[in-house]
Order: sequence, then C-alpha cells, then structure tokens
Amino acid sequence: MEAPKTAGNEQRFTGIPVAPGIAHCAVVVQWEEDEEITLRKIEPQELPGEIARFESALIATRAELLDTQQRIARAIGSNDASIFDAHLLVVEDRTLIDEVLRNLERERSNVEYIFHQVAEKYCRTLAQIDDPFLRERVVDIEDVTRRVIRHLLGKATGGMASHDRQHIIVAHNLSPSNTAQLNREFVMGFATEIGSKTSHTAIMARSLEIPAIVGLHGICRQLISGDDVLLDGYTGTLILNPSPETLAEYGRIESAKEEVVEKLELIRETKSTTLDGRHIVLSANVDLPEELEGVSANGAEGIGLYRTEFLYLNRAEPPDEDEQFEHYRLAAERSQPHGVIIRTLDIGGDKTTQSLHLPEEQNPFLGCRAIRFCLQNPEIFKTQLRAILRAATFGDVKIMYPMISGLEELRQANALLEESKAELATRGVPFHPYIEVGVMIEIPSAVLTADHLAREVAFFSIGTNDLIQYTFAVDRVNDRIAHLYNPTHPAILRMIKMAVDAAHANGIWVGVCGEMAGDVLLTPLLLGLGVDKLSVTSVVVPRVKKAIQSLEISRCEEMVRTALAMEDSTAIAQLSLAQARERYAEIAD
Ligand code: PEP
Ligand code: MG
Repeated sequence: MEAPKTAGNEQRFTGIPVAPGIAHCAVVVQWEEDEEITLRKIEPQELPGEIARFESALIATRAELLDTQQRIARAIGSNDASIFDAHLLVVEDRTLIDEVLRNLERERSNVEYIFHQVAEKYCRTLAQIDDPFLRERVVDIEDVTRRVIRHLLGKATGGMASHDRQHIIVAHNLSPSNTAQLNREFVMGFATEIGSKTSHTAIMARSLEIPAIVGLHGICRQLISGDDVLLDGYTGTLILNPSPETLAEYGRIESAKEEVVEKLELIRETKSTTLDGRHIVLSANVDLPEELEGVSANGAEGIGLYRTEFLYLNRAEPPDEDEQFEHYRLAAERSQPHGVIIRTLDIGGDKTTQSLHLPEEQNPFLGCRAIRFCLQNPEIFKTQLRAILRAATFGDVKIMYPMISGLEELRQANALLEESKAELATRGVPFHPYIEVGVMIEIPSAVLTADHLAREVAFFSIGTNDLIQYTFAVDRVNDRIAHLYNPTHPAILRMIKMAVDAAHANGIWVGVCGEMAGDVLLTPLLLGLGVDKLSVTSVVVPRVKKAIQSLEISRCEEMVRTALAMEDSTAIAQLSLAQARERYAEIAD
C-alpha cells in the first residue's frame, strides 16, 4: 500500500484493484490475523483476576453469539434458532471450562494461553474420532476459541453489530471460504491487507460483483469499525472520510460506467463473432451456484468452467453423490442449449476445507492439489465422477481435469472414470457413457507435452491463472511478487501458442478460462494466438463480446506475429492495448 494521501479530513490509500465497482458506506474491520498469544507466568494472587477475566470473556462471547444468531435469523426471515447453537454449547461446555480452570491453578499461566492450549487439545482429539458429528464440532470450537481469545485480549471489534446494515469489510485476509459466505445484501465491498488479482478470493469477488481491493498493507490499523469509507474497485483506492467534492466526482464516474453497461445490454443476444466472421465461443465461469442465473442473463454461451470446490467448503463432511448430482443437474439444465464443462475438484492451494482433512503443507500450491489429491483419494474422486456422469443425461455436460501435468495422470483419471461408469452400471443408475473429457492446460509440463495430451482428449482449456504462476514460479496470491505475474511475457505467449498449435494439429478446440480471458485489453492477443473459446466471469461477458465483435482475426494474427518476435512484455502489452483502444476505447479504459 502506498502512503496515505491526505486532503482536509479525507485520506486515500492505494492497493491493488481486483473487482470493479464503487461502494460507499461504513466500514467493519474484522477477521484480523490470528491473534498472537504469548505465555505469561502469573503470581498466585493474580489467579482470581484471571478467572474473572475468563468468565467475562465467556459471557461476552455468549452475548455476541446470541446477538449474531438473532440477527441472522431475522435477516434470512427464519425462526430457526439452531444457527450457532453448537457454538453456544461450546461456551457452556463444563468439561472444557473446568479443564481450563484446573490448568490455570496448576500451571499459573495467563488464561488466554491456557484456554488456547485446552481448546487446541479438544480440536485435535475430536478431529481424530471417526464420527461426523464430533468432527463437525471442531470448526465450532475453533471459531468460538477465536472469539473468546479476542475478548480476553480486549480486541473484540463489536463489528458484528453492524452486519445487518450495508457495510464494507476491511480485513487482513479473506479466504475463498470466507468470501463464499459473504452476505451480498449487506456486504458492499471489501478490502484486504494481503492478496492478489488471481487469488480465488478475488475471482469470487468479481463473480459476486462485490467491489474489492487487496494489498492494502496495514489498513486494519488505520481504520475503525464505523468509519465512513468510499471503495473504488476500479483503481484500488480506499478513501476515508470522502469529501463532498470526492463524492460528487464518484457520482459522475458511476453514471459514466452505467451508461457503458446499458449500451452493452444491447448486444446481449448477439453472437461473439469477429468483423471478419470468426465465431469465438464465449462462455461463463461459475464459482458458486447463485451465479447460474447470470450465465444466460449476460449472454454467455453456456458454462466453460464450472468450479466444483464450493460444494466442499465451509462444512465438516464432503458432499455425497446425490447432493453433487443435484447441483450438476441444475447446471446442465440451466446451461442449455450450450452446455457446461464441469471441472473436477481442485481443492488445495488457497482453497482449504475441514471436510477433506487436508494435511498442512509447506507449499500448498505445489502440493497435493486438484487432480493429485483426487488420484490419491479415489473414492472421493469417483463419487464426484459418478455424480457428473449421472447429470450428463440432463444436458450437454463435459468433464475437465485440473492440474494435469502429463499423460500418466490423464490416463489414471480416465481409468477411474471408467470404474465410475462400471459402478453406476452395476447399480443400474442411468448415466452418459460417452461424456467428453478435456484437460486444463495450466502446468508448463502439460504445455510441453500438449501434443501427447491432445491425442487423448476432446479439448484443452488453458488456465492462465496457474500457468503464469507455475511458469514464473510466482505464488499467485502473494502481492509482494505480483509485479512478476505477467500475462504478456514472451514466455506466456509461447506457452499459449504451443498449446493452441498442438490442439489444432490434433483437431481439437482450445479455450482460455483463466482471468486473462476476461481482460479486454488482451483480447487481440488471445484471438491472434488462435484460441477458439474464451470463458470468463459472467459479468464481463458483454465487454468481451463487444471486444470480439470489434476485432478482425487477420489483424490480430498479424499483430501476434510481431509480438512473438518481441523480447519486451511491456511492448507486447502496448501492441494489444493500442488495438483495443483503437477498436473499443469506451470499454478499454
Ligand atoms: C486457472 O488456473 O487459470 C483456472 C481457471 O483455474 P483456477 O483459477 O480455479 O485455478
Ligand atoms: Mg487453475
């Protein structure tokens, strides 16, 4: 984050813009980094004080939970008092409380330290028990522990109280699971201290149309809940106490943006065909079930990337076959007549979940992620494959494997697909036996062996988010090295070209479904490189359609011939930008 700029009472902070839009309302500072708990020895006379602190923290946490429970029940119009019941049981759990008190007397350490130790021991023990109900309680205990400790440390924000009003969240970080749970009625935007443009949190913010900024280092300390803030997700500016002049200026910006959106509405039903007649299939990426509506509403040709991780997040047990089948069937039906490409589970990396008991890893993006996890856990994988095969009888459904590094993995995955078919056949359950299978091209080794892969799949979808990360060895969620994350680097152009050439030489189509596909400044480059399909967040479909309709393939190809001979990524970006500005300036800036 740049140093804040001050004018009058107004202060501006600049970070990385990751989801467009403008929001103006009170801020809620929350989800701070896990609190540091230090050990402090206490004297015997301090003991009653520590016990009293503990009791007050439990009472305050209980009140906070009850308050939240009531507000959530009101907000979702339900009397269902069971929300947070399990959490409340934790603060009232005599066994846990008594153990804390006993250890406090015995060890004579500060109560937050003791409480944390006891709660952790509980979590570890419960996590090992083969009982779904008990394992589910681990999540509750962890959440309650965090709340109690914040009260003990005097750091409870009180921010929860404003959750039933519109607000902007400011946090150290939001995980994809946190983001999936955001209440869109009240959360108008969010800003985080860390993060990056291609993290799954940022991708979700764009899909959910929540304006967002990341990389605002130290912002949690600069603001307090209730501050009046304007968040500009176009430029990555967070403005504290915006002046009347600033608000007026943003009013004008918003009207101009709305005008563009209205104009784009007019092309919703038209085809994404270039001026010289090449149809580029333009489909939508879906991360959460509520996005299904936006697919045809934004004029997309079906779903080019249906990420299935949402099904596994924020829960204690993975979804069973029937639950998954219902979701996939809905996607198949809603994406008619164009169809849906369901990507098999890509858990790991920045997407973690209690439900799959993933071990802690030193380098999660290089670890047991996506197809690697699935091949090591064939029952989980086959449950998903069977659900997809069944859903494929309800529409045009294709399967896509993520993170394929080469032919062996593809063949192993296909062998499990055949086993899944055989299992369904034995059960006598209807399924589609000839489902098309494609792979994500997102690891350099897959690009380098794309000719092998292309002979055994029906299509390629280039995942530029990961392909860029793995080509440059740049962690895609680390904003400190975000400057190295470079889609127009000659290495990336060559990678895409190799994958496209291998696909076409083997008669299969190739798309791009990473975030690069939704950047209209880069559409001339991707079209010139020969991709047949782009899959983007629904909301940007109209912009990308406008870009495609304004370009000529022949000119894009000519530009790419020049670009491929260039050494400088900025110059390559400029080439594409110049053509974008010339052809569709109104959406290029
Ligand atoms: C990608 O890597 O480009 C991609 C589309 O997949 P994800 O962002 O889910 O890793
Ligand atoms: Mg990926």
